[in-house]
Amino acid sequence: MTDNRLDELRQQMDDLNLQILNLISERGKVVQEIGKLKEMQGTNRFDPVRERAMLNLIEENNAGPFETSTLQHIFKEIFKAGLELQHDDHRKALLVSRKKKPENTIVNIKGEKIGNGAQHFIVGPCSVESYEQVAAVAEAAKKQGLRLLRGGAFKPRTSPYDFQGLGLEGLQILKQIADEYDMAVISEIVTPADIETALDYIDVIQIGARNMQNFELLKAAGSVNKPILLKRGLAATLDEFINAAEYIISRGNGQIILCERGIRTYERATRNTLDISAVPILKKETHLPVFVDVTHSTGRRDLLLPTAKAALAIGADGVMAEVHPDPAVALSDSAQQMDIPQFKEFISELKPLCNVLS
Ligand code: PEP
Ligand code: MN
Repeated sequence: MTDNRLDELRQQMDDLNLQILNLISERGKVVQEIGKLKEMQGTNRFDPVRERAMLNLIEENNAGPFETSTLQHIFKEIFKAGLELQHDDHRKALLVSRKKKPENTIVNIKGEKIGNGAQHFIVGPCSVESYEQVAAVAEAAKKQGLRLLRGGAFKPRTSPYDFQGLGLEGLQILKQIADEYDMAVISEIVTPADIETALDYIDVIQIGARNMQNFELLKAAGSVNKPILLKRGLAATLDEFINAAEYIISRGNGQIILCERGIRTYERATRNTLDISAVPILKKETHLPVFVDVTHSTGRRDLLLPTAKAALAIGADGVMAEVHPDPAVALSDSAQQMDIPQFKEFISELKPLCNVLS
């Protein structure tokens, strides 16, 4: 008899659990609807005044047997789950997200197809210092079959007294080299006002780590028809990095390459800490190609090759590294740029490891 009663109560419990499940799921759907309306209105999803009113409603209607505080705790968890649901929906809706577009984005830079499965290199000096200096690197890169050349014209330096770059003259040198060597050139732009100018001189606009959350610059980069290489901020989470790319794509420019360049941690053995797992995470979360900058992430010449190997092995779409004809006299980053013989060695070690799909 007691056994039968117990079975009956258990059955009742199962039914109640299912009812609670249905109610929570139904509530979830209403929360999603509210989320959509709020997004359209541009209002904040979390509304503390509304949450307080909902908690008061629980208190006013609690007829026992639970303490109000216990019920409020349970309901707060349900409210939290609802907010997370809205957040997930928003994330799914990001234009850079792989959920939005499952296939890889391929960024075509003068015929070099970044993101097509083949692995690429972007090499060149930290700063453009002279025509001869860039030409020496261009020639060496060309000999290795590489066509993507970097060089900074506007240099965001830690100290205002350090070399700030040649500015427009640097862009003009890059353009001349690109034409003479049939190469594509990549250079950093630091202010929205220079984005239009850059279009005439360079093939890829780089947005540097220090500007990853310069939202006006991101919007300006999103408004032009030119590939963008977006570097991860020094202290940016991957979520922030992805949202920075979203700023660009949301303005219409989907030609974006993400670049992991190390983040600031307590470790002092390297200039920054290369977050290698960022590569597969970014590849999984977004449809954009991902590069690894081994120069700025390590700040050490002896680590360029092993970290580049790691980048290729983990599935990066390419590697960026700095090369200077005479690093000892370089006006910036002299400690970690490779000279030409080191660069040749670097490429010959890495070439056999690259995926050669195209
Ligand atoms: C650069 O690539 O020239 C550069 C300054 O890098 P970052 O913005 O990653 O520091
Ligand atoms: Mn540099």
